[in-house]
Amino acid sequence: MLGTRTLRFFADGFGGEVIRPGEPKYDAARAVWNGLVDRRPGLVVLPNGAADVVAALRFAREQELVVAVRGGGHSIPGFSTCDDGMVIDLSRMRGATIDPERRTAVCAGGALLSELDDAAQAVGLVCPVGVVSHTGVAGLTLGGGMGRLQRKFGLTIDNLRAVDLVTADGGVVRASSDENPELYWGVRGAGANFGVATSFEYALHPLNHPITHGTVVHPIERAGELAQLFTEMAETGPDELWLGFYIHLALPAEDYPAGIGGRPVAAVSALHCGQPREAERDLARLRAFGPPVGGSIGPKPHLAAQRLADVSSEWGHRFYMKSAFLRSLPEELVDIAVQHAHGIPEGAGGEFSFWSWGRAIAEVPEDATAFTGRTAAYWMGAEIQWDDPALDGPSRAWARAAMAGVGPFATRGLYVNDVAESRGDPRAIYGDAKYERLVGLNRAWDPDNVFRMNQNIRP
Ligand SMILES: Cc1cc2nc3c(=O)[nH]c(=O)nc-3n(C[C@H](O)[C@H](O)[C@H](O)COP(=O)(O)OP(=O)(O)OC[C@H]3O[C@@H](n4cnc5c(N)ncnc54)[C@H](O)[C@@H]3O)c2cc1C
Repeated sequence: MLGTRTLRFFADGFGGEVIRPGEPKYDAARAVWNGLVDRRPGLVVLPNGAADVVAALRFAREQELVVAVRGGGHSIPGFSTCDDGMVIDLSRMRGATIDPERRTAVCAGGALLSELDDAAQAVGLVCPVGVVSHTGVAGLTLGGGMGRLQRKFGLTIDNLRAVDLVTADGGVVRASSDENPELYWGVRGAGANFGVATSFEYALHPLNHPITHGTVVHPIERAGELAQLFTEMAETGPDELWLGFYIHLALPAEDYPAGIGGRPVAAVSALHCGQPREAERDLARLRAFGPPVGGSIGPKPHLAAQRLADVSSEWGHRFYMKSAFLRSLPEELVDIAVQHAHGIPEGAGGEFSFWSWGRAIAEVPEDATAFTGRTAAYWMGAEIQWDDPALDGPSRAWARAAMAGVGPFATRGLYVNDVAESRGDPRAIYGDAKYERLVGLNRAWDPDNVFRMNQNIRP
């Protein structure tokens, strides 16, 4: 237990802010995105830069405190907070700096996706990142980074040129293809294990015209046909075209026609990052599928698409999910999704998502990064969000049951950022060979396992 005098001595000499239990800011400082997580750290420190991170880590190690590192706070199992120990909250280390000539961005360790998106788009550039703009750049990148530009520009890690880390021994190191290449391999998929990332450098790509984006919703009775169209378009469409196939409840019910609202429906989302004329051509089959019962697809600024889910995914709801990488999307899987969509616990919002995968992702060899799952044809998730604590058990049970039959259709690997259990199985995430390589890396960089608030690779 941390003594008051010891803590005061540390706080007085610390360059950033220190928040302690009982202080007015404490409850906000200990909260994370997932409302299921309710932990009480012994202190929350907010560094202003890498030197403060070094000082915080030194103190945590002297006092043998558990260390949780927080970027955007979106970790689904709540890894960015802890009981009793120290939270290193990087929310004062924000911002993205763009070099339009070199087409690069440098983000501070606590930056949010919106900062990278906004700064890059201001000069007609883009980095492929996730789809909710208040997610942290750090956690998303260190796990991989899926998004709607991935078939054209790859995962976020495929655009990561370098990362600066404060390591467990207080050292400051850079990982890139030239410096510490083995660490650079590991941070791209298992990065939360190796240190506190204080800065990320990304390659950017030109995107200075409106993208074409939206969702069309159809009755659940057409789910099989729509899934077939989705897979055909994903297989034959250009790299510019990202598609998602969804089974979810038509909510709010009043937005849908009578007989549809409140019931399961099937939907396809599309984002085409080519010119609007090309998008119109490549989406013609989806339009020809028939008039939707909801939604629309059309040209819009990329930044508008990036913010569409910000409110529905706001902080504080309770959330659980399971996911898999799929070899294919056969009819049996669509049937499983439709069947379970009818069993979503009342009061919860459950959804199945199938994302088109491959192309730029698959052009990077599977062994080039710790991230595992590049050879899949689709990513699939069963996600559920609710507010009433009485639904905690039924909601988790729904997602687990819904994904129980998916194993035979899955490829090796799991997306680490989707693993909602706080003790996931790293071998299942990375496969045996990569897991062993990561153990070696962790022995070299964090032999005492200081950074263990993650899907932990034990040294
Ligand atoms: C609403 C929502 C939408 C999402 N959408 C997508 C999506 O479109 N694509 C996608 O790929 N993923 C998505 N995710 C998953 C997301 O990528 C992960 O939850 C990610 O870990 C969040 O990063 P964060 O920095 O916000 O989280 P945090 O909770 O702050 O951190 C997550 C993990 O990273 C570690 N960490 C954080 N910052 C640092 C740092 N600077 N240095 C070292 N370790 C650090 C933490 O210790 C923790 O283990 C989404 C999650 C949510 C909740």
